[in-house]
Amino acid sequence: MHTIPHCPECGAPLVDGMNCCEMLGAILAWEWSDPELMQEHFLTVASYNLQHPAQFTNEMLTRLGEVYVQRLDNQLPIAEIRRRMGQATAGSTRVRKPEAERQPTLRHWRMTIANVYLPNQPVGAAGRVRAWAAAIRRERG
Ligand SMILES: [Zn+2]
Repeated sequence: MHTIPHCPECGAPLVDGMNCCEMLGAILAWEWSDPELMQEHFLTVASYNLQHPAQFTNEMLTRLGEVYVQRLDNQLPIAEIRRRMGQATAGSTRVRKPEAERQPTLRHWRMTIANVYLPNQPVGAAGRVRAWAAAIRRERG
């Protein structure tokens, strides 16, 4: 088996052999026993997606970036985020690029999902998600 030591998109190292997608799954699993983390579900998924943009269309990334900033800066309610993203993804609008059109580009970030997923340390994950999102917000400008 060939393993990639770092994520080709966000630059995060593998953690316990887990890639970014697997770390995201582990964090989402923690939500079930952590209501505070559950409340940050949007930030967790959106932060992951914004650091792994190759799979998405530009239109989708623009919309996601807008509600992300609104959430962080103005506490945009989740219901409103769902409404806006629902409009963006309604009907035939394509959200994801076909596999063949995806071109992952490495970008280095101050914080990645590897700073949020600490093996066997679910305590404090919500705070780590908020710090991660704040770092992305600053770096995105
Ligand atoms: Zn990654």
